[in-house]
Amino acid sequence: MLRTNALIIGGGPAGATAARFLADSGVETVLIERDLSYVKPCGGGMPSSALDELHIPRSVVKKEIERIRIVSPKGNEVEIELTGGHLCITERGVLDAQLRGMAQESGASIQEGEFIGFEQTGRSTVSIIRKKENNEEIKITSDYVIAADGITSRVASALNYPRPACLFTISAKLKHAPLPESTGGNGACEFWFGKEHASHFYSWIFPSREYSSIGTGSCNAKELGSLLDRFTRRRFNTPFKDLAEGHALSGKARAFKMPEWNGKLFNIANVLFTGDAAGMVMPVTYEGIYYAMKSGEFAARAVMEGNPEVYKKLWKNRFYKRFLLMSRIRSRLFKSDRDIEKWVSLHRNPEIQELAMRLWLQKKPGNSAFVPYINIFKSIFKSMGS
Ligand SMILES: Cc1cc2nc3c(=O)[nH]c(=O)nc-3n(C[C@H](O)[C@H](O)[C@H](O)COP(=O)(O)OP(=O)(O)OC[C@H]3O[C@@H](n4cnc5c(N)ncnc54)[C@H](O)[C@@H]3O)c2cc1C
Repeated sequence: MLRTNALIIGGGPAGATAARFLADSGVETVLIERDLSYVKPCGGGMPSSALDELHIPRSVVKKEIERIRIVSPKGNEVEIELTGGHLCITERGVLDAQLRGMAQESGASIQEGEFIGFEQTGRSTVSIIRKKENNEEIKITSDYVIAADGITSRVASALNYPRPACLFTISAKLKHAPLPESTGGNGACEFWFGKEHASHFYSWIFPSREYSSIGTGSCNAKELGSLLDRFTRRRFNTPFKDLAEGHALSGKARAFKMPEWNGKLFNIANVLFTGDAAGMVMPVTYEGIYYAMKSGEFAARAVMEGNPEVYKKLWKNRFYKRFLLMSRIRSRLFKSDRDIEKWVSLHRNPEIQELAMRLWLQKKPGNSAFVPYINIFKSIFKSMGS
């Protein structure tokens, strides 16, 4: 039987970052990824500050975005220059491979295989892994397991932990050429709001170098296809099917789940849950890559200290208030198109724009945008009668 200090399940942003931090500090680390060629459906957007903070080379960036455009349900638009940082669009296959490469360089062992279940949990945990190359089942004993296996976490299921609530997305990659100017070239990232095509979510266009990621989301999986169709009709005057014909890079649109954060899952004994496996996606913006990487880092630090409880403390100190605020905004905002209309128009105010962009793009602790943004939203919610 193989033995290691830390076993990481999943080689996305959370798992690869945890592996890098652990291996860097000399902890013996094995990372198991089900499919090293897997490309997660994802817009791939993250603030430039996230790359800097985690020392990720800019070579993973396909496009730097300097403007975003938010469009209200009634079609009122606000275009915002991003100051104090950029939005970097990455390609997920490239980003994940880079992060795993960095972990490997630090000394982590990366292996292709699938976590099947636990044979034993306790002080020493025995995980069953099916190797990809020959389907052989092997057992790995470890002091700690870091679950970084995404929204459908098999590690959580193996511990009978109920899956958190989730939203549903549908997205596709479209070549630029036939799309209007604003989606290609120097295009802005676009966020379109309105229940007609996005419920509890927004529809988006994220331009990258060779393509644009386009998609929408909902709390009802059954209506995804028709929502995407309604969005492309609204945005391009064209049904999705016609738009995709000849322009889709990845063939069909792909549906995928997105966790709804509830802040409950950090660790079960010596099994630590990170990224999407723990539901750590920022409400409203649905930004998950940065938070997955940071949760991987914090889980790794807890393992280095030999105390899983440290993970929750680190995470809460850094992110809890931010997630709570955004979670409250989400439950208030997505109640009605009327409220979203008001929220979008508020962002015409340069002061609010500046605060919102600082909150989104600058991740350092002690961000001074936080308190004024909370106060503005408190007064807005009051005026909305909640
Ligand atoms: C359509 C869409 C668009 C998005 N756009 C953005 C965006 O623009 N910016 C942003 O910040 N976030 C975005 N997100 C969210 C972001 O993709 C996730 O939050 C992020 O990928 C979470 O990283 P992770 O490492 O926790 O999980 P994942 O990236 O899901 O990685 C999990 C890994 O575990 C592996 N795995 C799963 N099961 C097993 C198993 N049993 N054994 C071994 N390995 C296993 C998988 O193959 C995968 O590689 C988007 C999400 C969706 C669905």
